[in-house]
Amino acid sequence: MAQKYVYFFGGDKTEGNAKMKMLLGGKGANLAEMANLGIPVPPGFTITTEVCKYFYEHGETYPPELKEQVNDALKRVEEIMGKKFGDPSNPLLVSVRSGAPISMPGMMDTVLNLGLNDETVRGLAEKTGDERFAYDCYRRFVAMYGDVVLGLKPVGKDDVDPFEQVLEELKHRKGITYDNELDPESLKELVTLYKKLIKDRLGIDFPDDPEEQLWGAIGAVFKSWNNPRAIAYRELNDIPDDMGTAVNVQAMVFGNMGPDSATGVAFTRNPATGENVLYGEYLINAQGEDVVAGIRTPQPINKAQKTDPDSVSLEEAMPEVYEELERIRKLLDRHYRDMQDVEFTIERGKLWMLQTRSGKRTAFAALRIAVEMVEEGILTEEEAVMRVEPQQLTQLLRPTFDLKSKEKALADGAFLAKGLNAGPGAATGRVVFNAPDAEEWASRGEQVILVRMETSPEDIRGMHAAQGILTSRGGMTSHAALVARQMGKVCVVGCGALEIDYKKRQFTVNGRIVREGDWISLDGTTGEVFEGKIPTQPSEIVRVVVDKSLKPEESIVYRNYAKLMEWADRYRRLGVRTNADKPDQASVAIAFGAEGIGLCRTEHMFFEGRRIDTVREMILADDQEGREKALAKLLPMQKEDFKGIFRVMKGLPVTIRTLDPPLHEFLPADEKTAAELASSMGVPFEKLWAKIEALHEANPMLGHRGCRLGIVYPEITAMQVRAIFEAACEVQKEGIPVKPEIMIPLVGHVKELENQKKVIDEVACQVFQEQGVHVVYSVGTMIEVPRGAITADEIAKEAEFFSFGTNDLTQTVYGISRDDAGKFLHHYLEKEIWEYDPFERIDRDGVGQLMKIGVEKGRSTRADLKIGICGEHGGEPTSVEFCHQIGLDYVSCSPYRVPVARLAAAQAAIKERLKA
Ligand code: PEP
Ligand code: MG
Repeated sequence: MAQKYVYFFGGDKTEGNAKMKMLLGGKGANLAEMANLGIPVPPGFTITTEVCKYFYEHGETYPPELKEQVNDALKRVEEIMGKKFGDPSNPLLVSVRSGAPISMPGMMDTVLNLGLNDETVRGLAEKTGDERFAYDCYRRFVAMYGDVVLGLKPVGKDDVDPFEQVLEELKHRKGITYDNELDPESLKELVTLYKKLIKDRLGIDFPDDPEEQLWGAIGAVFKSWNNPRAIAYRELNDIPDDMGTAVNVQAMVFGNMGPDSATGVAFTRNPATGENVLYGEYLINAQGEDVVAGIRTPQPINKAQKTDPDSVSLEEAMPEVYEELERIRKLLDRHYRDMQDVEFTIERGKLWMLQTRSGKRTAFAALRIAVEMVEEGILTEEEAVMRVEPQQLTQLLRPTFDLKSKEKALADGAFLAKGLNAGPGAATGRVVFNAPDAEEWASRGEQVILVRMETSPEDIRGMHAAQGILTSRGGMTSHAALVARQMGKVCVVGCGALEIDYKKRQFTVNGRIVREGDWISLDGTTGEVFEGKIPTQPSEIVRVVVDKSLKPEESIVYRNYAKLMEWADRYRRLGVRTNADKPDQASVAIAFGAEGIGLCRTEHMFFEGRRIDTVREMILADDQEGREKALAKLLPMQKEDFKGIFRVMKGLPVTIRTLDPPLHEFLPADEKTAAELASSMGVPFEKLWAKIEALHEANPMLGHRGCRLGIVYPEITAMQVRAIFEAACEVQKEGIPVKPEIMIPLVGHVKELENQKKVIDEVACQVFQEQGVHVVYSVGTMIEVPRGAITADEIAKEAEFFSFGTNDLTQTVYGISRDDAGKFLHHYLEKEIWEYDPFERIDRDGVGQLMKIGVEKGRSTRADLKIGICGEHGGEPTSVEFCHQIGLDYVSCSPYRVPVARLAAAQAAIKERLKA
């Protein structure tokens, strides 16, 4: 039997369903699902992703069976619609759209009104009795086909759309402002002008044959899978390149057939806040692209959603259609058990659904929807935990403007305008007017706000680079709004008061001019735009849990956050600790749910105040006696630090690492600073410089550091552990329990650990005697060089715990310096030699394998060996999942990533259970 490449949907013959996303793409699978649910969907068919793969594997050709399957499906559409494709008296028009298994909004191509030519357009005019409408469709089709299929697009970043330019010239000549003022004669003229433009610029005739048009459009959609913006989008979102897109060919329904027609997009819940209400926008007498492209500012669907009293909601304009849409919203929301993003068209009073998919949402909405769907009995707690992306939680911890400063800015007249609040949070930066500039400025370390009339998929890299995005047109579902929301960017759209002049690189608002490089501030939560730089303040969650400046009951966000975290903690097996060197960091981490300190880098304490002087004195000392003198000065300082930490941690485990970095890091590297230091320390310059030269290392991260320091200078280890134990004893005497864990860095041989452990145990013994108390402590090691992992069974004879230092382990496994890798890393990512930065995400196949060996060998000697991770990977969700899989006991990460790690750990545990 021939392979099936085409799946029909609509009428009573639907062949696919929502489970077939890989084959039919998201759009195709969901159109089929809606048709199965009895929701009105215009009939059509989906050409599978298999064809896309075939297309690329066979020099952009199709499987031989495809043509017949497409023709058969097209016939069925003709039967249901009672029209014929290419029939001059009663033409069927179709749309041709992309649809990948994972949604890539706006990245690939679409052609509408396909099947029109000089003859069929007359049939359409007669059949509908509306010549204006028919030619409006025709001119849109020619422009869209010219752009998408024939490739007549703007060139260069300041160029305008050539079709748009022709349109503007015609409107100017006719003295009209709006597209809908164009009469049939003008529209006909526009078609001729567009075709001439194509002929002049491309040297080809516009194809009149509908069949040629159809195959041209199908080919263009498949080709758009590999256009630069789609590739960039996949790269940013980790979508595999070999997935391919499906193509959906569907009977056209028209939202531009007069005042009883409309088109819109809606969400089954509010995508910014998560509130359980129908939310969206629509345009009377328009085609779908008008809403998404943000050319005209659409009207709200709900009465409640209105901000402008002059706007007319769908609820008011077409109450019956609104009721039907509300019914479908509830049906879809429950059926899919998730918030849906739908597209619809109303053709002469009849509602048609064109698309449904899981909706993009802010972190605020994701959280609220997940929690409320549990309360509504739609989801289980476990499912709710799986619904929020751990990384999204960082957005909830993002700052807002400091209210006082904002009030002051308002009083000072800094308010410029108000748009729609598309992406919450506060951002401030310097104005740039195009995406390449945003990227370039940001790469110089500038904070920028990207200001555009509207954004297009080409702009995504620039949007990514910007702090915030501001557009003068478009609604909450415009490209800018969708993409910003997904990226977690602050975004204000549809700010109509802005008159943007790309060429002059400025915008004018109420007579005020803001130029490229000027500072502005965006409040993405309210939609306000200000001139100047407004300081920001922490998120509501931070104010409840850290600052205690907001009561829990005053914040919905906090309530939902607390619920989700409570559920997450119920499912996770991994412990979550924090990397903290100071009491205040430790208490922030505890507020976020940390269960201990996984890494206290003692060297960070050496930079506090004037302490560095004493550290330098220690380094410059000629002999052990001199070093001990300096160390004696450091001891009380370190001790106070440790006491502070123990007090905050109240008996939770505190892993303290002995000195790790090479000593030259504490000394200046250049002669000028060294000379200044020499004179301030009262030592001869020559002596200092000689020391600096003696300590110089070619690749310091592989040099005299980690346990190698303590082995050569045992007095350093002795001082540090004395400080730890004295602090521990004293705090324990205060009645506060303490649980120190002393960790030796960079161990590759068991004897290194043995050596340091001896020093530790001796000092412990002395201090306990002096203090007259005993403190329970343990000694362990970091596993951060390959030999440490490979000989973990030996090392575990001495070590009571392991902590993977994956920063150094990645460096040593790859043989690349963590400090220098930045110079070539981006080339590796661009050339796809690496899929991701291994310093950010654990390389499971390399570094990860060594970790596995370390775990297995370590536990083969000591079954109850406690194992954690304290490299940066400990707060990155996919790495947390890996740590769960290989059986670590805990992850440790920076304080603000603790909630992320808790959620990621819960998800890892749930996923594992679901697999079993
Ligand atoms: C590590 O190497 O992963 C680690 C935590 O130590 P540091 O980053 O301080 O070298
Ligand atoms: Mg390290």
